[in-house]
Amino acid sequence: MNNFSNDEFDYHFLDEGFTVKDILNQKKNEVSSSDDKDAFYVVDLGDVLKKHLRWLKTLPQVTPFYAVKCNNSLTIVKTLAAVGAGFDCASKTEIQMMQSLGVPFGRIIYGNPWKQVSQIKYAANNGVQMMTVDSEVKLMKVASAHPKTKLILQIATDDSKAVFHLSAKFGTTLKTSRLLLEWVRELNIDVISVSFHVRSGCTEPESFVPAISDACYIFDMGTEVGFNIYLLDLGGGFPGSEDVKLKSEEIISVINTAFDTYFPSDSGVRTIAEPGRYNIASAFTLAVDIIVLQEQSGSDDEDESGEQTFMYYVNDKMYGSFTCILYNHAQVKPLLQKRPKSDEKYYSSSIWGQMCDGLDGIVECCDLPEMLMGHRMLFENIGAYTVAAASTFNGFQRPIINYVMSRPMWQGMQQIKSCDFPPEVEDQDISTLPVLRRVG
Ligand SMILES: *Cc1c(COP(=O)(O)O)cnc(C)c1O
Repeated sequence: MNNFSNDEFDYHFLDEGFTVKDILNQKKNEVSSSDDKDAFYVVDLGDVLKKHLRWLKTLPQVTPFYAVKCNNSLTIVKTLAAVGAGFDCASKTEIQMMQSLGVPFGRIIYGNPWKQVSQIKYAANNGVQMMTVDSEVKLMKVASAHPKTKLILQIATDDSKAVFHLSAKFGTTLKTSRLLLEWVRELNIDVISVSFHVRSGCTEPESFVPAISDACYIFDMGTEVGFNIYLLDLGGGFPGSEDVKLKSEEIISVINTAFDTYFPSDSGVRTIAEPGRYNIASAFTLAVDIIVLQEQSGSDDEDESGEQTFMYYVNDKMYGSFTCILYNHAQVKPLLQKRPKSDEKYYSSSIWGQMCDGLDGIVECCDLPEMLMGHRMLFENIGAYTVAAASTFNGFQRPIINYVMSRPMWQGMQQIKSCDFPPEVEDQDISTLPVLRRVG
């Protein structure tokens, strides 16, 4: 890493030929004493950009509104804002963050259906119009606090295939939608969009088909009730780890086919989505150190069959970077910074966090070579629902984040910045979004 850094964005530029791995190795050598090491992240902002560009290329008809809750680190949000992403905000604080970065109102959705009246009023007074509702009670709140809103009606999806079932908490059903639309009509409020969220950790690309078909049904219902609904919001749930790239390709193909069936190119419908993990999961690598290790033998007469097991305690925790396990049922897997020898013996091992809480098990069982105090483990694909949700429980601070970017990526970003984010995109300018069309 060279000394040149960019203050506006808080990046360090990678020297030519340098990779994130090199930075991790460099940092390993920086601290010689094993006493004062702290866990830290290295984040490849180039990866965030690459993902964004890949999205624009493979789903050019779907404008991404990044779900800020997934990772609200300022540098991440700034980077995405600089290349023209929209944002799905869950609270007043997130909306304020977008305002401070100069994101046009038309690129902000106030998405979380569980809104506080004071925060709805804040959005209303600050030009944010697109808001999600999914029930009569929430509709009444929005109607009184923000009568000029442009509603997004969130429908429940069949999330039986998702890792985490949330449809019980969010979304109106097809049956109640009609009633809700009629209510909205009576209240003289506008509905412009139907949204769904196939739920975090969706492993079945096919889940998008019934969701798109249901949305189409609500579009027609809207027309019957007298609305012109013209925006389809696909929500989030797009996988973010590099190793599920194939799944993403499958999702894109499923979505394109469903568009052909339910929203043909002459329908004039515009489409957005709210990807979260997709944008940032793979950019983050976490480095932790072993602070305590405990050896156990499975039987008293320990023999060569490998009954010996190891418990490693590291300097991060379940309520820290590993909240993704609780929140998201994420499965994390350690990598060793030191490449093991080919004949290295592996032992059944478990990895624990540093909290005074029995819940703090990070990896229940994995095979690892014998490690020593001070040895480092890496966790890749750890950008989603980690730093954003991490607490300082027990007084342990969150790991420092080191942002890096290669110069070619930085230059690429400057080019996008100057052409893709025209300042004249203001207010409720949905018309700047591309009209839905099939590509490729
Ligand atoms: C959390 C959330 C997202 C982002 O989900 P990912 O699985 O990270 O893509 C998108 N939309 C809504 C409504 C959400 O609640």
